[in-house]
Amino acid sequence: MALEDYRADCVSCSRCSYCKWIPFDHVKSWRFSRACPSIEYSKFQAYSLGGRLSVALSLMEGRSGYSEALKDIVWKCQTDGACDVADKICRYNIEGLEVLHELRFRLVEEGQTLPRHMAVIDNLRKEHNTMLKPKAGRGKWAEGLDVKDLTREKAEVVFHAGCRFSYDAELHNIPRTALTLLHKAGVDIGIMGKGEMCCGGRVYDMGYREQFTECARNNIRAWTKAGVKTVVTSCADGYHAFKRLYPELGANFEVLHTVEFIDRLIKEGKIKFKKAVPMTVTYHDPCHLGRRGEPYVPWQGKRKKIFGQIPVWEPPKPRYNGAWGVYQPPRDVLKAIPGLELVEMERIREYAWCCGAGGGVIDAYPDFSLWTAAERIEEAKSTGAEAIVGACPWCERNFMDAVKAKDEKIKVYDVIELVQRAI
Ligand code: SF4
Ligand code: SF4
Repeated sequence: MALEDYRADCVSCSRCSYCKWIPFDHVKSWRFSRACPSIEYSKFQAYSLGGRLSVALSLMEGRSGYSEALKDIVWKCQTDGACDVADKICRYNIEGLEVLHELRFRLVEEGQTLPRHMAVIDNLRKEHNTMLKPKAGRGKWAEGLDVKDLTREKAEVVFHAGCRFSYDAELHNIPRTALTLLHKAGVDIGIMGKGEMCCGGRVYDMGYREQFTECARNNIRAWTKAGVKTVVTSCADGYHAFKRLYPELGANFEVLHTVEFIDRLIKEGKIKFKKAVPMTVTYHDPCHLGRRGEPYVPWQGKRKKIFGQIPVWEPPKPRYNGAWGVYQPPRDVLKAIPGLELVEMERIREYAWCCGAGGGVIDAYPDFSLWTAAERIEEAKSTGAEAIVGACPWCERNFMDAVKAKDEKIKVYDVIELVQRAI
């Protein structure tokens, strides 16, 4: 598809501004009623979904050209999709998130990139990770664990750590614990270790479609060779890439986030809790596990006009509106932990506020990224919870940095860390 294929979507925008808010019937307070970090931070229409649809239309009709201002509008957005969910409540015919991506693909094709993104891409090409680190250090997080190396052995299940968990030493306990729990529960599991490659999901969101495809083909080939049937990850970005994007390239693996796998094992009685964890926590839905984590539905088609003027997709496109993301398993795991109380924030599930790290924002606009995280921390604090719990290393890193920058008392955990305490 190309940007021009979405011309009708751009024209259809009625400037209603629904995309800036969570649905009105879900609003509990003015303070936490907004959906879009970009417009809240920038306070200018162009930084909303509706604004970006106008920008895309203007660009494809040649009414505006490339400029630093246009680049700022296109890249200062987490591609978290909250706008898309809100928009589709009343505008089923607008694929807003797809336009945001097509706009980015176009800018990358035209060389309208950001230096900080290019540093990430250069490192990905040479070192196979987005963390600006050498590939030699990739498998270090798993040192000392008794686990199969799937570059030499075969297993039913591969655990994909992902770039952030591989290189962020402060978070290493999370993939180590997840892997150990699954191993102890009798799962035939292995890792690619230093042979693991980035999932490509983050660079897809940054607009680098070609680099994403390269990562995906590499991983699909390696897993197929190792006899893998199921791919497990503790990273929401990886989950979205494997669940939603890889099938478009022909991948056919079962894809599970560790919260889903652990939830399944608890319900089968293969993981049992022995200790209480007396704590009140709130759960943050990572965008790529929640609204963007919906399973891929095969579709091929094109635009046509009915009654000579109304553009529709033929056959109708699958409706991705966030409803089928992974929301219940992490909550069920937390609720199964003795002594732990789960309290909810105002914006949850498909209406959750983004952590701020996505879409290359953490790389190019660190202040905006931290501001977005701090907003979520404020919402978490308003519940009275002692901790905000996540299921993605990018959210957790951003929350930890925001808590530190603001000298907050609230703790940040991954679901896995609380499971570990209860065993
Ligand atoms: S993108 Fe959708 S929700 Fe946003 S202003 Fe346009 S029509 Fe309204
Ligand atoms: S993807 Fe997120 S930041 Fe970007 S326009 Fe939509 S809600 Fe705003």
